[in-house]
Amino acid sequence: MSKQGIPFVAIGSDELSEKLGTVVTCPHCGNEHAVESSGPSKVFHHDGTESVGPAGLLQFYKCTGNGHVYLVGIEGKRWRPS
Ligand SMILES: [Zn+2]
Repeated sequence: MSKQGIPFVAIGSDELSEKLGTVVTCPHCGNEHAVESSGPSKVFHHDGTESVGPAGLLQFYKCTGNGHVYLVGIEGKRWRPS
């Protein structure tokens, strides 16, 4: 698979706040949804090599109201976009 076209997002440490709980209150539908963590993910290094990173890098939830998945945390800390 080509590395071109892979979506990415840059998040500063100042955008991360308190430790995430196991549920979040959804801003889209107002209900609570379970927070899930990513599994092991592929990491691309500057020298062109790849390795497998640790699980739990990303936290997300799925809104049962609209069916979309939202990124909500990094390494267990809540992401608050500025
Ligand atoms: Zn929702």
